[in-house]
Amino acid sequence: MGRRSDPVCLICLETLTSEEFRNGEAMTLDCQCRGDLALRHRECAIKWAQVKGDCICELCKHEVKNLPALPPRPPQEEGNAGMEDVYSSQQMVELAPSHADLVFDCVRVTWVAMIVSILFFDMNLASALWTGLVAGLAYSFMVRLMYRQHFAAMQRLAEAHAAGAGSLARGPVHIPIVTVV
Ligand SMILES: [Zn+2]
Ligand SMILES: [Zn+2]
Repeated sequence: MGRRSDPVCLICLETLTSEEFRNGEAMTLDCQCRGDLALRHRECAIKWAQVKGDCICELCKHEVKNLPALPPRPPQEEGNAGMEDVYSSQQMVELAPSHADLVFDCVRVTWVAMIVSILFFDMNLASALWTGLVAGLAYSFMVRLMYRQHFAAMQRLAEAHAAGAGSLARGPVHIPIVTVV
């Protein structure tokens, strides 16, 4: 047995079995990457491409030719919401990252950290995986913490705004200066 370890899907970090290669659930990316670096679950590779919005491989910067064409994504609204929008609780719920987003962010950070470890620090795949995993977990933990504090602050702002609105009527009061001759 010359194999030191089973190949791993670089998106979900699970082991790729020969059975998965046989039934088409696992694939080799058709880019310039060679060896284990080009191996993915088909589903993971497609989901990853959809999240990124293109089929370009980050490792070799070449197009992955054997991914299906991406369905068009709805344009993403950048977070430039005015304060008025932030006050509505409905909007606040929409601003919160979904669980799936967090998990995928975690995976993405894990992946990038791992690639960096391999490319710049000459780590082998196994230790790079661990490094990446630690980075990914730390990242998702921080994001969660950040959002919790962010929303607590928003909540206070909204309450202060509501309280202020009661006593101050609506906006600044203009006192007309009338000169009677
Ligand atoms: Zn996978
Ligand atoms: Zn590649």
